[in-house]
Amino acid sequence: VADLAAAAARDRADEPALIDTATGVTFTWREVDRSVTATAQRIQKAGVEPGDRVAVRFPASAAFAVSFFAVLRAGGIAVPLNPYEPASASLTSLADSGARVLLTDSSSARSFRAAGVAVLEPVFDDAGDAKGDVAGLTPSARGGEDVAALLYTSGTTGPARGVMLSHRALLANVEQLRSLTPSPVEPGDRVFLAVPFHHVYGLGPGLLAVTAAAATAVLAPRFEVRSALSDCLHHQVTVVLGVPAMYVEMVTRPADELGKCLSTVRLLVSGAAPLRPKVLADIRAATGLPVYEGYGFTEAAPVVTSTLVTGYAKPGSVGRPLPGVEIRLVDDEGRCGPVPADPDEPGDSFDADGCTGLVAVRGPNLFSGYWPDGTHGPDEDGWFRTEDVGYLDVDGDLHLVDRVSDLVIVNGFNVYPREVEEVIAQLPQVAEVAVIGVLDRRSGEAVKAVVVPAAGAGLSEQQVIEHCESRLAGYKVPRFVEFADELPQSAMGKVRRVDLRGQDGVSED
Ligand code: ATP
Repeated sequence: VADLAAAAARDRADEPALIDTATGVTFTWREVDRSVTATAQRIQKAGVEPGDRVAVRFPASAAFAVSFFAVLRAGGIAVPLNPYEPASASLTSLADSGARVLLTDSSSARSFRAAGVAVLEPVFDDAGDAKGDVAGLTPSARGGEDVAALLYTSGTTGPARGVMLSHRALLANVEQLRSLTPSPVEPGDRVFLAVPFHHVYGLGPGLLAVTAAAATAVLAPRFEVRSALSDCLHHQVTVVLGVPAMYVEMVTRPADELGKCLSTVRLLVSGAAPLRPKVLADIRAATGLPVYEGYGFTEAAPVVTSTLVTGYAKPGSVGRPLPGVEIRLVDDEGRCGPVPADPDEPGDSFDADGCTGLVAVRGPNLFSGYWPDGTHGPDEDGWFRTEDVGYLDVDGDLHLVDRVSDLVIVNGFNVYPREVEEVIAQLPQVAEVAVIGVLDRRSGEAVKAVVVPAAGAGLSEQQVIEHCESRLAGYKVPRFVEFADELPQSAMGKVRRVDLRGQDGVSED
């Protein structure tokens, strides 16, 4: 992985590598490469030895890219930290990883130094300056199985855990993505990246794939829909790597604005959370472009399936395994579950007993286990079992039902929140919705919907319930409907149902 930036500089030295929309600064691949070397020297001078952890804490920016590659070039293990969380939260990951040094910007350096952390800043080297000469760098040979990055999962379902990703795993996923036709990133592409780099989605399919193709990344440290669209227009973006929350925002804009701003785009990609079929349809109507959906997780560096594999953006499906990836659905006894009778009827298949299973994955992109001991990695046959419930349809395309930890059990019947959410999201008055279980004295748990109404829309609790009653089995119909201005979201725009659950006590009636 350490060599990707150097290879990009060899192939396309003077091409724009990173366009920082926040500062207006553009770096060429040569400038990136030289800055990486200069920063790697600084890291080695700070006493970092091969295998030492070095944390990197920036929004998606040239500073992140330079720092990340510099840690690897210096022989270290990069530990990307969430720049949007308070410094105190980062201190937990710093301590857990045993990072010797933190690369961050001057504005947050002070609070980390005050907490006793050794802080460095990256060096930005102008072309022609000799600081980035490799002569001052001690070469460090790291093998494919050596850990390149330690990524903390965002903690949607529990405490954050350090996922050890080897050079082999990260490169395998970049190659798997590049082997697709159409490939998500090709040389000459201008890729709009508003996904944070500390998360594996922004890091792998974003930064690493762009670097491997020596393409150009158009970076936005935060997603704001109007400026994102004008950046796409201004920089003639050809690929957008986004999360569903961004596409949800985009469809609130007038269709002609979307069509105009995305007119140079060849590919829209979504991942990290479910993309509602309605959003896919609205984007397509406005731009003529489908949104290709991918599914993955930190432990797979990250992508395992994509609708790009078939080139058909099938609504509700996350597509098929990437080349070299195998998936299996596993039931409680560890066996594979059968395929549902009528997979195109989500309602039926959600109900069909034994037709769904936990997604298990095997492939060269899998992680090496959790930090620090490498525990709970792939089993001896190479399989890793996720917490995601899914099924394969007759075409062999994967559909995700929900996470097993979000399952709501009402009088002994299983309710997967996503199914109820999809039904409620059909109402035009609904902008967003999250469904959770609340403890209930009578039924064990009861279904509760938290609804964000669309701007200016009037909607009552009764309307939501009646809409569900005509479309869902009785036990799946929400017993409680609450209206909210927004839903709690992670840095990746994932709805944090866990936070909503935390707000509830036991229902009394
Ligand atoms: P934690 O594991 O700590 O709860 P996290 O789940 O956010 O954090 P990630 O590795 O970022 O950790 O997320 C992976 C999960 O995101 C997957 O297991 C799956 O549940 C969900 N996911 C990813 N892509 C999709 C998708 N296209 N559709 C639905 N869910 C998805």
